[in-house]
Amino acid sequence: MPMQLPPIEADFYHLDHLLTPEQCQLQRKVRALMENEIKPLINRYWLKGEFPHEIIPRLASLNICGVTYEGYGCPHLPFIMEGVLTMEIARVDASIATFFGVQSGLAMGSIYLLGSEAQKQEWLPRMQSFNAIGAFGLTEPEVGSGAAGGLTTTARRQGDTWVLNGQKKWIGNATFADVTVIWARDLEDNQVKGFLVRKNAPGFDVEKIEDKMALRIVQNGLITLRDCAVPESDRLQNANNFKDTGKVLRMTRAGVAWEAVGCARGAYENALAYTRKRQQFGKPIAAFQLIQNHLVEMLSNLTAMQTMVFRLSQLQDDGKLTDEHASLAKVFCTLRTRDIVSRAREVMGGNGILLQYDVARFVADAEAIYSYEGTKEINSLIVGRAITGFSAFV
Ligand SMILES: Cc1cc2nc3c(=O)[nH]c(=O)nc-3n(C[C@H](O)[C@H](O)[C@H](O)COP(=O)(O)OP(=O)(O)OC[C@H]3O[C@@H](n4cnc5c(N)ncnc54)[C@H](O)[C@@H]3O)c2cc1C
Repeated sequence: MPMQLPPIEADFYHLDHLLTPEQCQLQRKVRALMENEIKPLINRYWLKGEFPHEIIPRLASLNICGVTYEGYGCPHLPFIMEGVLTMEIARVDASIATFFGVQSGLAMGSIYLLGSEAQKQEWLPRMQSFNAIGAFGLTEPEVGSGAAGGLTTTARRQGDTWVLNGQKKWIGNATFADVTVIWARDLEDNQVKGFLVRKNAPGFDVEKIEDKMALRIVQNGLITLRDCAVPESDRLQNANNFKDTGKVLRMTRAGVAWEAVGCARGAYENALAYTRKRQQFGKPIAAFQLIQNHLVEMLSNLTAMQTMVFRLSQLQDDGKLTDEHASLAKVFCTLRTRDIVSRAREVMGGNGILLQYDVARFVADAEAIYSYEGTKEINSLIVGRAITGFSAFV
């Protein structure tokens, strides 16, 4: 008689009890779509390095884009839900979570936090329903971590027009975005400003970055701006310096921490299921002490991460989130995720490197999440400055 196995539940401390029944229902709705409609496609697209455009209407049907924003067709739910839903998407695929994070967080967030009323009216309802896709162009080929003081892309005002010159690297969704937020230094006052650059604008070229070993579904672009003319009406009207850019990043960095939790959770749950099925020496490998040790270490870290991001979102909902709060969670969760996905791969033996077993992809994708939206070093420096009072960036 086979032993009755306990359910696989990576929410070990029942954090879902902190959600309302309606919030749990929405979480389950997102999980069902991800499991039933998106998971079956993912490995194929990941291998091809292409984006599954056919899923966009399905994602739109969930009505979760711009989930925390008020007005413009957005649901105006608490930040905790943005986190939980991001985690649910990443639990199945980190590339789709990244696509969603760029659209809903970085691109819509720039317009929501820093745009004029007219800019919000023009873009946010269309982006909320995925009828317009957004991208966020901050990083440059020679300027990554040092973006705060080092941007070389320039903006020169000529009457009612701005002329942009420079390059942006790694820009997610850029190959098919309808609008890309470009951050450039105003040659007049040396301050960083944001510009809404429309698809097919003259002087705006995007080349797809090929051959990535992580997040292969995300279409990252190398953008070249050659005397690209942008009307003053498409300058983000409330973005006056890099501190304003930072407001967007603070909000989205919390989302990346949740994304890491999702990635770790997906890998852990798949590995746990595998160890209960896989037999060696006449019994399931889950019955071996050394395998259980791996599983418990994974679950300990995952539980610590989940507890941390829940509290992070509560701080965000209370309007008390600081840069250092978000940075600490981003560092801790992405670091622990690397450990969890590599243990998940390990307990699966050779099958751990086969895409079809749904862990190998998480191992690769964790590497990109670890580096984007501020590396471990940069986020550690943000926390270090806050707790010591000394800035150690340079
Ligand atoms: C898949 C992917 C998607 C991305 N999407 C976007 C996007 O949509 N939009 C966008 O604008 N950008 C995007 N990025 C860029 C991303 O934010 C940068 O890669 C990241 O900020 C790091 O910059 P860098 O890669 O140039 O590394 P670098 O800045 O060159 O850093 C290299 C190493 O040096 C370390 N380092 C740098 N400065 C210091 C210091 N002061 N002290 C100690 N160590 C230091 C770093 O921590 C890192 O380990 C994406 C990146 C990836 C990989």
